[in-house]
Amino acid sequence: MTDVVKNLKEIKKSLAAVPEKFNLGRVGYIPPHIIAVSKNHSKDKISVLLESGHRIFGENKVQEAYTKWPELKESYTDIELHLIGPLQSNKAKDAVRLFDVIHSIDREKIASAIAAEIKATGKSLQLYIQINTGEEEQKAGVMPKDADRFIKWCRDELHLPIKGLMCIPPVNEESAFHFALLKKIATRNGLEKLSMGMSSDFETAAGLGASYIRVGTAIFGERNV
Ligand SMILES: *Cc1c(COP(=O)(O)O)cnc(C)c1O
Repeated sequence: MTDVVKNLKEIKKSLAAVPEKFNLGRVGYIPPHIIAVSKNHSKDKISVLLESGHRIFGENKVQEAYTKWPELKESYTDIELHLIGPLQSNKAKDAVRLFDVIHSIDREKIASAIAAEIKATGKSLQLYIQINTGEEEQKAGVMPKDADRFIKWCRDELHLPIKGLMCIPPVNEESAFHFALLKKIATRNGLEKLSMGMSSDFETAAGLGASYIRVGTAIFGERNV
């Protein structure tokens, strides 16, 4: 069986070596938090990580998350659960109830549904806006040219607690360009947090200022879909 605890340790080691690897100098580097992406993985595997002390996890589907996390969150009350996948407005209610952070706000309908649910429940949540940095048709996310306007609308009209931006670079492109673009959009909008980097490119993301990296395969092994 995959040694998830060992894998997580290796990732932390790689993150600690990032300033040296990219010649950043140590000053100012804060290693990103690691979201252990447990989609398609069992509660048993998740529990091993929980027992080792890890508390930050991510899922990409609301429905799948409900099969695992309500119970786990009862046993470990300090879990920080992230929704990193696309969200439909009819799932907004369930999403707000279960998750602590949502990374995939990308259109008015979703933003409004979440705002309504936050208002109804009074739950304190952290939100990220997903940017489609590669401008890919099939991919979720706000187009870069619309980002400033959408961010402002979410804040000013809906008073949403927007903390940062998230992106998923196109598979066949250099991630660094997309991470840098995400940072640029965040900075000019006064947003501090960046959700970027996965198993294949988390070191690059860390070097470019990621606050959260989202790592599945490198921790849990291949997913059986
Ligand atoms: C699945 C997923 C990840 C993790 O991907 P790995 O390559 O397995 O690390 C990260 N972000 C999102 C949005 C995902 O859906």
